[in-house]
Amino acid sequence: MRECGPQGRIVGLAPEVDHLYPLLLANPDTSETTINRPHSPTTYLASVSTSLLLWHQCLAHLGPAATRGLTKWCAGIPARLTGECDCIDCLDGNQTRKPFTPLPITSRSSRPLELVHSDLSGRIPSSSLAGSKYYIIFIDDFTRFTMIYFLKKKSEALKAF
Ligand SMILES: [Zn+2]
Repeated sequence: MRECGPQGRIVGLAPEVDHLYPLLLANPDTSETTINRPHSPTTYLASVSTSLLLWHQCLAHLGPAATRGLTKWCAGIPARLTGECDCIDCLDGNQTRKPFTPLPITSRSSRPLELVHSDLSGRIPSSSLAGSKYYIIFIDDFTRFTMIYFLKKKSEALKAF
């Protein structure tokens, strides 16, 4: 396999080696291919983007100032990054929500045991020392008195009431 440049000059070869095609590019300084050194490690860089937004996204959404600061310390990052850092993902992630406003208390009971809230919950992954895997909770709406019963079976809920 041969790869030709715009003027028809061979810029690289890709001979088959064990069903693979390692790309052997021509050395632009000497116009020689690396075919005489087929396994020499070589890295070719096609282009480097100067987009601040792209580098910000590639660096795990690092802050724009820190991304610009890396240009002094890291090889491979262009010295001058261009554009704005208008990252939609960061805007979405940094937005805060207003807290939920509690509903107005309209129907509060006027005497004990007029309204009792209850919740049966479980199956707890690890049972208690007594072997309970469920619990039922009762809350009196007027006094806020709370009782909790631990149950071995859901069928014991009615007995707890
Ligand atoms: Zn971001």
